[in-house]
Amino acid sequence: MHYRTSPHNKILLHESKINNVTIKIEHQYYYALFNIETEIEEFNNAWDTVEIDLGIKTLSTLSNGQKIANLDTTAEDRKIKKYYRRLSKKKYRSNRYNKTLKTLGKWITKKQNKLNDTYHKLSNYIVKNYDIICMEDLDIKELFEEKKFSSFLQTIGWRKLINMIKYKCQWYGKIFIQINRWYPSSKICSNCGYYNKDLKNEKEWTYPHCQKTHDRDINAAKNIHKQCLIDLINEKMNLWSRGIAQ
Ligand SMILES: [Zn+2]
Repeated sequence: MHYRTSPHNKILLHESKINNVTIKIEHQYYYALFNIETEIEEFNNAWDTVEIDLGIKTLSTLSNGQKIANLDTTAEDRKIKKYYRRLSKKKYRSNRYNKTLKTLGKWITKKQNKLNDTYHKLSNYIVKNYDIICMEDLDIKELFEEKKFSSFLQTIGWRKLINMIKYKCQWYGKIFIQINRWYPSSKICSNCGYYNKDLKNEKEWTYPHCQKTHDRDINAAKNIHKQCLIDLINEKMNLWSRGIAQ
């Protein structure tokens, strides 16, 4: 039996009340799923904010300048492709077919576990270190237009990561805000608010109004950050005015 747990999980299990344990078998791997009751540790809430930008090569860029590379799963992808091709040549439900299917399943699981681990570590890091987490909506449509299977898989990965950040924010009392991606984050000067509708894809430019020169990505990140805070305040004000917010 394969037994996997991180040091953090060991502590968690040790200090928690275990309600029940379920054994799951998936692609030859045995999993023990613990349903536990535990105290969620409170983090210091200093209202630190961060803006996250998701990408393909760089999985995420944080507004503090930190870049997290996407996990390399070339080895797993190659095996998955290889066994998938082999499977298509075998007679359906024959012994050889079943055997290849098992191996294929094993590699798919390996890849999934590797990705899940990265997403968990990254989302833990973000939620533990920041209190207000902002990001733009995903540009799903544009990705689908590329009609590449790899973009489709990447989208699923991002969705998974975003969901983890969302539910961990709820656990730890952090705030998660997503802004509409149609907001023209790169066309607005983050210094004076001037809107330059003629801006194309220039990497760097000087805003005519205040003469400030910005790097396109950093300027966009600053604007997204500001817009998230404005949205948050508006939402809170709205709830307060209706008497439902604390
Ligand atoms: Zn300006």
